[in-house]
Amino acid sequence: MSDEVADLGQPHLPLEFFQKLPKTDLHVHLDGSLRLETILDLARIHKVQLPSTDPAQLRKSMNLGQNCGSLVEYLKAFDVTLQVMQHEDALYRVAYELAEDVARENVRYMEVRYAPMLHTRLGLKITSVVEAVLAGLRAAHDSLGVESNVILCGIRNISPESSLEMAELAVAYKSRGVVGFDLAGAENDHPAKHHKKAFQLVRDNNINCTIHAGEAYGPESIAQALHVCGAHRIGHGCRLREDGDLLHYINDHRIPLECCPSSNVQTGAVRDLASHPLKLYFNLGLRVTINTDNRLVTDTTVSHELWHCHTQMGMSLADIKQMIVAGFKSAFLPFHIKQAYLRRVTEELEHFTADGQIRPLPPAASSRPAGVGDRRFEAPHTITVDNLS
Ligand SMILES: [Zn+2]
Repeated sequence: MSDEVADLGQPHLPLEFFQKLPKTDLHVHLDGSLRLETILDLARIHKVQLPSTDPAQLRKSMNLGQNCGSLVEYLKAFDVTLQVMQHEDALYRVAYELAEDVARENVRYMEVRYAPMLHTRLGLKITSVVEAVLAGLRAAHDSLGVESNVILCGIRNISPESSLEMAELAVAYKSRGVVGFDLAGAENDHPAKHHKKAFQLVRDNNINCTIHAGEAYGPESIAQALHVCGAHRIGHGCRLREDGDLLHYINDHRIPLECCPSSNVQTGAVRDLASHPLKLYFNLGLRVTINTDNRLVTDTTVSHELWHCHTQMGMSLADIKQMIVAGFKSAFLPFHIKQAYLRRVTEELEHFTADGQIRPLPPAASSRPAGVGDRRFEAPHTITVDNLS
């Protein structure tokens, strides 16, 4: 990852400061966010042939953290990661370690996504895939306190039938750790409307959905995600700036954008970080959230992405805090739980000051705010509108 700092004539807060901020990661792929050493380890355990067993060589052959020029090239690293994710123990471990990694940089809430049908090559039952990932996340929650939920993905370039199957799985696991449905994969030549049935099914079951759109195709793809498939959030949305009318619609409806700046540079969706449209979107009032996409493949963390926004795009600490709050607001969580998070996080954020100081935080017995996951918690009778923008 680039640690270069653009000279924007303002004081720069260090990366460590961003690591301490409470955060979300709402757009992170399980199969793009393994540890490199875990790939090597799992390959040994399950006798998988890798392009190289030397970490540096493997990193190079997978183009980790490199500009790939296109989404299709970028996605090639997944050929390797998926090979070692075909057993329950591997899925459990990868999920657990991801939660452990995000907890280390103070991500308080994560929505991790993946496509279960990509993990059945060696005969694993699809429900066993889902259960193994959920078990890993649950174990991480119990030992580390990090809260996470799952978004299941259909893949554009596989088939509408398999998307429908994944949608059925999302329905089956609703309220059991699965909170959403997504469409990922090659955007060009594979329009979301082909997968309309899957989205109809998840929406008929009151499940949230998000769609990768406007990354490798134009704003028409975003319009289709919203108007044909009923997406509640948009993954990336880099090319939204090409359609002002749609941009205003997204703003007016407070539809969150899951921005993943470094990934967008690596797939060629944007030229460089400085020209990423997220600052424009933010300035126009859109609900912009900052995410990693793939912690391994993009070689990043949420802290790095926020730090890039600060150093490469000139966004102030106040802007950063607003995007962090937008992350919690945009989570696929029940409203009263989001309120509990927002109360806690907005209070915590006040302790981080623009001169890089962190005033002593209130005693943090748990990263989980009062009420979250507590059966006895009741939604407040008075709902304020302070944090609802
Ligand atoms: Zn993605």
